[in-house]
Amino acid sequence: MALKVFSFMCKSCGYKAKLLLGSADLDQTLTDVNADYADYRLFICKKESRFVHADIHDRSFGGSCPSDGTTLEGVQDPRQAKCPRCGSELEIQEISPLAASDTSAE
Ligand SMILES: [Zn+2]
Ligand SMILES: [Zn+2]
Repeated sequence: MALKVFSFMCKSCGYKAKLLLGSADLDQTLTDVNADYADYRLFICKKESRFVHADIHDRSFGGSCPSDGTTLEGVQDPRQAKCPRCGSELEIQEISPLAASDTSAE
């Protein structure tokens, strides 16, 4: 899965989140696999009742929330994710990072 911005919106409680998820394109880093390879996964912080994304290849990431240190619950498929606050169905949009960020075309 390539890097994509996922936009989550809950119609029941109004929760909103926009997170960068997926893995960086390997083509550029094949020669040096461990260096820049990032793989952002979706997690739920139960303490804060919100989504958190984390790079699972980041050595400083030990499976806990960066802001409160509690153990995060992994979400297998972001497209199937339920609202971390109320458990309702979410409206999920996938946005290409190219469209979301201002790439400086010269
Ligand atoms: Zn909700
Ligand atoms: Zn947290």
